[in-house]
Amino acid sequence: MNHKKILVTGGAGFIGSHLCERLLNEGNEVLCLDNYFTGSKDNIVHLLDNPYFELIRHDVVHPFHVDVDEIYNLACPASPVHYQYNAIKTIKTSVMGAINMLGLAKRLKAKVLQASTSEVYGDPHVHPQPESYWGNVNPIGIRSCYDEGKRCAETLFMDYYRQNGVRIKIVRIFNTYGPRMNPEDGRVVSNFIVQALKGEDITIYGDGTQTRSFQYVDDMVEAMVRMMATDDSFTGPVNTGNPGEFTMLELANLVLDLTGSKSKLIFMPLPSDDPRQRRPDITLAKEKLNWEPKIQLRDGLVKTIEYFDKILK
Ligand code: NAD
Ligand code: UDP
Repeated sequence: MNHKKILVTGGAGFIGSHLCERLLNEGNEVLCLDNYFTGSKDNIVHLLDNPYFELIRHDVVHPFHVDVDEIYNLACPASPVHYQYNAIKTIKTSVMGAINMLGLAKRLKAKVLQASTSEVYGDPHVHPQPESYWGNVNPIGIRSCYDEGKRCAETLFMDYYRQNGVRIKIVRIFNTYGPRMNPEDGRVVSNFIVQALKGEDITIYGDGTQTRSFQYVDDMVEAMVRMMATDDSFTGPVNTGNPGEFTMLELANLVLDLTGSKSKLIFMPLPSDDPRQRRPDITLAKEKLNWEPKIQLRDGLVKTIEYFDKILK
């Protein structure tokens, strides 16, 4: 069998667990590395009796040596609540994690993919955002540990590529949602669904007119796997996201509609540096990966609501 040995850092997290599952289903051997800061064994417990799945407790700020063909580097808290909880650790995770994984890829001549983010565009002045846009990021604000950490990781990836010929891939992920999001992590989709299901007030930050584009996790994983399979001359960065753009008020009303909840909307202060609008230009992904998202927000929310309904009971 033509299976590969693949390391997934952050594999016990929301996206990482779906990726591990997908790679195992394709017949690969998967090493899942995590320090369980925001991830959980519950996300991968169903994979544990697969002999081709291995779990490693490790923190990516420390070097790690293992023999693999490919590395997906996802380790990093992704929700504002969690990445701001220990900002210094967040930036160390992005920067030192990138250096450690790039060093490993260099030694092994392995491919390495970085889970970057639409946050590299900050509060964008160009809309929708193409990969050629350099962004509008505050380097000293409360989101900077994440945004600048991820920007620095991209820099490192490009420098290892130019200087050492490391086989790199960069994907810029736009807001992704789905089953196995941490119900406590404060992101908008999980917050609204959990609040609606519990009959609690729905917390709209600011006036709710800010926009985001939400992609369902299966579409995201498909894009990552396709990106890894491109030939070495294509490094990215490439945007992966769903171009459907919604205000937070629209999202809240859709969640109320789909859950049949009687929760009320309440308005709370907008956190500082919260981007006003965000929507990916996915022209490059269509061209290079022959990919576009298939799951519309309403359908993805139904599956996500089902998941939260089950775990909250
Ligand atoms: P998540 O918090 O569920 O997953 C991150 C995983 O990394 C967790 O399992 C966590 O325990 C682990 N981790 C954190 N710090 C670590 C460290 N120092 N060493 C080892 N493991 C560590 O978040 P997610 O949504 O699954 O995000 C996965 C990746 O995708 C992240 O790199 C994130 O920045 C990126 N991303 C996600 C989104 C999104 O909307 N979900 C958007 C853009 C980018
Ligand atoms: N948001 C909100 N209510 C919440 C959580 C978030 O209105 O309970 C808003 C938040 O201010 C932001 C958007 O939803 O404008 C997306 O927030 P999230 O933390 O999910 O992701 P990010 O800001 O990193 O895109």
